[in-house]
Amino acid sequence: MADLKGNLRKALDNSDLSLYYQPQVNLQQDTLSGCEALVRWNHAQLGWIRPDVFIPVAEQSDLIDNLTYWSINVALREWLQFCGKAPPKAIAINLSAKLLQSPEVVDLVTRAMNIWGADPGTLVLEVTESAMMSDPQVALHTLFALHEMGITLSIDDFGTGYSSLAYLKKLPVDELKIDKSFVHQMAENKQDRKIVQTIIDLAHNLDMSVVAEGIENRQILDMLVGMGCDYGQGFYIGRPMAMADLPAWEKKSSWKNPEVIPA
Ligand code: C2E
Ligand code: CA
Ligand code: CA
Repeated sequence: MADLKGNLRKALDNSDLSLYYQPQVNLQQDTLSGCEALVRWNHAQLGWIRPDVFIPVAEQSDLIDNLTYWSINVALREWLQFCGKAPPKAIAINLSAKLLQSPEVVDLVTRAMNIWGADPGTLVLEVTESAMMSDPQVALHTLFALHEMGITLSIDDFGTGYSSLAYLKKLPVDELKIDKSFVHQMAENKQDRKIVQTIIDLAHNLDMSVVAEGIENRQILDMLVGMGCDYGQGFYIGRPMAMADLPAWEKKSSWKNPEVIPA
């Protein structure tokens, strides 16, 4: 662990990390709605190290602050470059639980948006339920400040944490992201299907939009369209990829840019 921490510190200093982008699509309109930025670490000796291995290590030290500011800056720069002159679509970035407890995060996000000239309306911050619950008062304060700036807030892995509905209704949250553990087997598992429909209805009843992650085949995608789910993400649509590969994916995919669809 100590070794991984030291290596990660070096990786941040030497820019050995990169971001991959996974497409998110509007399921009801068949268009690309944005991407989620996911960090990648290709270690010279150890090879690819999974984020669910090194993010917890970063969270147990001060490294998570640097990693997050690095990811917000890189994501905004690369994403705005990718969007070019077209109106930028949404870029979703994962905000670690720990940062929600630090009020400076608001200044740091503001600074990054100013540097890259990003419109807050294009930025989505994904936060897990457990992140909000560890110190709800501080988290709530940070979330309100970010929301007031016009940033979209999304609850990641929804359904796997412990947040109560009483708490959920107080949150300035715009989107629920259904955890992939409910989506994976929804074709065979009636209970999962019911849970997914319940989350879709809950989101809509609370005036939120809803994203399903972990869509791995056409059958599940079609089911989600029929169930009224707004957005989707998963290997069937597109795997997380380097920014350089995104234009080729977009060209051959059936999810088009709203701007380039012929009238
Ligand atoms: P997450 O935010 O829930 O990200 C979704 C994960 O599901 C990603 O794994 C993605 O590659 C994977 N995934 C996407 N579609 C499918 C699918 O159809 N099937 C399956 N089986 N998996 C799918 P990844 O990239 O390994 O990230 C794992 C976790 O690491 C993320 O979970 C997130 O919690 C964390 N993470 C990743 N990047 C960052 C980051 O920049 N900052 C922070 N704080 N956390 C990050
Ligand atoms: Ca996420
Ligand atoms: Ca998730």
